[in-house]
Amino acid sequence: MLDAVIVGAGPSGIGVGIILQKMGINFAILDRNSVGSSFLKWPKQMKLLTPSFFSNTFKMIDLNAISYDTSPALTLQTEHPSGHEYAAYLNKLTEHFKLPIQNDTNVSSVSKTEDVFTLQTNKGEIKCKYLVWAAGEFQYPNLHSFPGSKNCIHNSLISNWDDVKGDEFFVIGGYESGMDTAINLAERNKRIIVIDKDNLLGNEEIDPSRTISPYTKDRLRRVNTDNQITFHEGKVVRVEKEENEFVIFTEKKKIRSKTKPILANGFKGSLSLIHDLFDWEEGKAQLNSYDESIKTPGLYVTGPMLQQAHHVIFCFIYKFQQRFAVVANNIGIKLSKDVSVIAEYKKEGMYLDNLADAKDECAC
Ligand SMILES: Cc1cc2nc3c(=O)[nH]c(=O)nc-3n(C[C@H](O)[C@H](O)[C@H](O)COP(=O)(O)OP(=O)(O)OC[C@H]3O[C@@H](n4cnc5c(N)ncnc54)[C@H](O)[C@@H]3O)c2cc1C
Repeated sequence: MLDAVIVGAGPSGIGVGIILQKMGINFAILDRNSVGSSFLKWPKQMKLLTPSFFSNTFKMIDLNAISYDTSPALTLQTEHPSGHEYAAYLNKLTEHFKLPIQNDTNVSSVSKTEDVFTLQTNKGEIKCKYLVWAAGEFQYPNLHSFPGSKNCIHNSLISNWDDVKGDEFFVIGGYESGMDTAINLAERNKRIIVIDKDNLLGNEEIDPSRTISPYTKDRLRRVNTDNQITFHEGKVVRVEKEENEFVIFTEKKKIRSKTKPILANGFKGSLSLIHDLFDWEEGKAQLNSYDESIKTPGLYVTGPMLQQAHHVIFCFIYKFQQRFAVVANNIGIKLSKDVSVIAEYKKEGMYLDNLADAKDECAC
């Protein structure tokens, strides 16, 4: 039996794995595909919008780094890595830190009896004392958010914008992935109508998880000189297919489209697979201050799904990398390991244990 298992070899699983490795814990990282596979599934043209810059020596870690002693800016020599480039960074770390990865291992269910977790996988049962769930969101798109969603295509399932046929497209959802969709299509001389219930582009909140990033606004200004992209404020309630057309119903309008509407409405996330191992309150999985399930002690969550538990939206790497050491520290202590590496994470500014400190502040 292993001391710990991490499910998922994206930035979260690799980030926590590096610390467990430094503590000498007997563990494995299981991935249904391979290291960084969500990034490999991104559309070819998509890039990280959070910039990478080598600032680590001044205690301001590269925003896209997952350990304080590495930087995608240095490794990849680019400011906005593509999905393939970021996956290369993750692979480099996996090699460097000699992480125990088991590829092509899909976890289909998890149970816990007494103090042992049993994971059902396509390679048989795997048992461990502690489990870190790092299976992400990207591979669990939100495909059923309103009746007739099946008449749309989710943007995460489009692998190359060059392959998309048609002249005019309706994009449902105006956050970053909707904007990326619209910009890519506009660059290919298509007309785009973004249907956005929240008017995020006009939102002046300071949390980047609730508004559009400066990088995307720059891209939009560059591409949208002829207003090929327009915005329609409204909430889509259903989509119907009528012969060769799609009919999009918002609360107030009925819109006809010749092309399949593109869903950019986000992800339901991988916690759906292990839903019963958590208590849920108002859609939030109940976790303690170490990101451990209150219902199932020993089960930790890391990555963007944390937003289903805390008040902070964790959708960017620079936010959730702050919690890797919190999880690893708790596991290390329970296994009576040497956790001195955590002091380094604290010193380097990669340890946020008090989420009340993650406040939105802007002096002007
Ligand atoms: C359009 C878009 C743009 C984004 N831009 C940025 C950005 O600019 N900056 C930023 O910081 N973040 C960005 N993000 C978010 C970022 O990509 C995610 O937060 C990040 O990928 C989450 O990392 P993760 O390791 O938790 O999950 P993932 O990267 O999704 O990794 C999860 C891994 O788990 C594996 N897995 C899943 N289910 C199972 C299973 N059942 N069994 C075994 N293995 C499994 C998968 O194969 C995958 O390798 C963006 C996301 C999107 C969709």
